[in-house]
Amino acid sequence: MFETDERVLFLGPTRKDAAAGTKLIVGAGLRCHTCLSLDELCHEARNGAGAVILPEEAAVGAGADKLRSAVRDQPAWSNLPVLVLTAAGPTPTARVKTLLELGDVTLLKRPLEAAEFINAVRAALRDRGRQYQVRDYIAAQTRLTEELRDADRRKDEFLAMLAHELRNPLAPIRNGLAILQMADGDRTAVRRTRDMMSRQVDHLGRLVDDLLDVSRITRGKVELRLETVDLNTILARAAEAVRPLIDARRHHLTLTRPGRPVTVSADPTRLAQVVGNLLTNAAKYSDEGGRIDLILEEDAGAVIRVRDTGLGIPAEMLPRVFDLFTQVGRTLDRADGGLGIGLTLVKSLVEMHGGTVAAASEGAGKGSEFTVRLPKLERDDSDGAGPAVAAAVTPRRILIVDDNPDAGDSLATLLEMTGHRVEVARSGSQGLEVAARLKPEVAVLDLGLPGMNGYELAGRIRAEPFGRATVLVALTGYGQEEDRRRTKEAGFDHHLTKPADLAALAAILRGDDP
Ligand code: ADP
Repeated sequence: MFETDERVLFLGPTRKDAAAGTKLIVGAGLRCHTCLSLDELCHEARNGAGAVILPEEAAVGAGADKLRSAVRDQPAWSNLPVLVLTAAGPTPTARVKTLLELGDVTLLKRPLEAAEFINAVRAALRDRGRQYQVRDYIAAQTRLTEELRDADRRKDEFLAMLAHELRNPLAPIRNGLAILQMADGDRTAVRRTRDMMSRQVDHLGRLVDDLLDVSRITRGKVELRLETVDLNTILARAAEAVRPLIDARRHHLTLTRPGRPVTVSADPTRLAQVVGNLLTNAAKYSDEGGRIDLILEEDAGAVIRVRDTGLGIPAEMLPRVFDLFTQVGRTLDRADGGLGIGLTLVKSLVEMHGGTVAAASEGAGKGSEFTVRLPKLERDDSDGAGPAVAAAVTPRRILIVDDNPDAGDSLATLLEMTGHRVEVARSGSQGLEVAARLKPEVAVLDLGLPGMNGYELAGRIRAEPFGRATVLVALTGYGQEEDRRRTKEAGFDHHLTKPADLAALAAILRGDDP
């Protein structure tokens, strides 16, 4: 509400009436601007008013035109209340008509009781108040529309970027396939091509993982698996994962650690993802041969710093780099661009751990520093166990049911190469037939099968005598809690999302607890 919104513009019939009327209005606790002429009243009306009061003689003839044009200049929501003080005796009908054309007009017959006058003014202001509500509502809607339009534009840009980023790895993979077809025994070419294709597929997988992660995190669907972890281990693991990128860009990475365990309660995978994302950015946004410092410190909490000597971030972008789809100087042809999701994930994950993350940079070209703070656990009981030793494989009879031949066959090949006996079926009914013959110890079932779907197949296998002990594994593109609940209800023992995490599948085949 502006001050002018509530004021009454008052043009008295005479100076004496003006003084008396103003006194009444002000005495009733209302705001009043006394006008000395119709021109002043029309001028002030354009600056905002709750109501105008004027004598009939000012509101007819040329006055009516002026007033009408002042009223017409108001915005669409506005219907400015006009109180016209008419002369004693009956007002001629023609005049009444002219007056009423002015809009929201109330005719007040002179002479007037003070109370009657003030009541009429209050009623006009109440009416105006409702118009202001409409005005504020329209303004709020307009703001909302602009915000939506902005979000929509960013989403469009993001889709263009996404398509571009997903297509990038496809070209080398397609070339790789052609090379493999022609390589004809050239082992070096095959190995090099296979390594390249595997890097590109990893890259594609990471993009898709990030996309899935961000949508699950923004919908609050991610749960942390908290453990007592030593940040020294997490940092080393993250540095190891980003090492190929750092080496490829000839950066120099130094790791500074306090030389004793720094324990926090955290999800080790998620925290390694946080540090990995920050290191990846440091490597991506630095010219070749840069220096990256990964520092672990302690104060009241645990502090992880990732410092680089790279492109830096302009001051005005610093508060926004954690926003979804935000990229500094985004262009479609950036060589190492991502999707503008990484830092959003970092921030959400750190906050889910009860921590904070901040970005600092002295400006373009001056490097950046990202600082993650996490609450520290005082107790230090990390057991320092070394990495698990790979267990010898016990050969299993495995049934794979997947209607996508490439997916089913490649998984079968991998499992056969690790010493298992595997049969593949393409549909639910075929799966049931094979199962009756193979009596599988483990059945890996796709859920979206034509005809009999994976849920039903699981139920049918379970119902057979041979199927009571079969370990049923759902392999699906859907990994939400709701999906996991459904597979559990259908009798599955495990739920893996595609592409299958081979380590997780190996653990199931070994009979480890999930
Ligand atoms: P992207 O997929 O684009 O890397 P991020 O969310 O990880 O998305 O980062 C958002 C943007 O912040 C990046 O596009 C980049 O412009 C900027 N940025 C992030 N980290 C750094 C860094 N270490 N140095 C300079 N700029 C950075």
